[in-house]
Amino acid sequence: MDKEKIPLSCADCGVVKCDRCAGEYPAFCLTTGMEEGELENLLSIYGEEENKKIMVEAAQLEYEGYCQLTRVEETIKFAQRMGYRKIGIATCAGLIRETRTLARILRENGFEVYAVACKAGAIDKSTVGINKECESIGIHMCNPIFQARQLERIGTELNIVMGLCVGHDSLFYKYSHTTTTTMVVKDRVTVHNPVAAIYGADGYYKKKLFPVK
Ligand code: SF4
Repeated sequence: MDKEKIPLSCADCGVVKCDRCAGEYPAFCLTTGMEEGELENLLSIYGEEENKKIMVEAAQLEYEGYCQLTRVEETIKFAQRMGYRKIGIATCAGLIRETRTLARILRENGFEVYAVACKAGAIDKSTVGINKECESIGIHMCNPIFQARQLERIGTELNIVMGLCVGHDSLFYKYSHTTTTTMVVKDRVTVHNPVAAIYGADGYYKKKLFPVK
């Protein structure tokens, strides 16, 4: 689609009737504008065995633990409900302590845990064409494809991302062989709380974000 012609979307909707069930759907609404046959097609995909189980268990968990369960507890309960036993962790090497704690919690809850640090392989950044100057903040490149591949070799049933960098996480998601969820999102400035910048967009972060230099 031509970038200049991208239509209005949910980001431009002030009603959100699809969630709030009040008001009128806007003219550009994605609910009322759904292509013919799309709903049936989606329902058939959600009806596939694994997708159906994920949808049912995730919704039930959301319902039962609403505003009570932490993300760690939710992840454990989701994995239990899904019947997963082997959990993989793709971790940032800088979060290895947090990963050890998470592994301890998961093991105490009956799971087998296997983690791969982002720097595993210890490959110099310049080897894959990254500018040599980038090695000044750490010589070895992140290795998300290896992380994904190694977790596949172990046969993990659920993969958890622990603080991979932007882009490296994209490659991990792209190559992950199995269902993947995120525990920690890397943000070195906000101590892994990226929504802080969004909350601050009209305040202290305004000059920083409009535009990002
Ligand atoms: S689907 Fe329609 S009502 Fe829901 S947020 Fe998008 S535009 Fe708004």
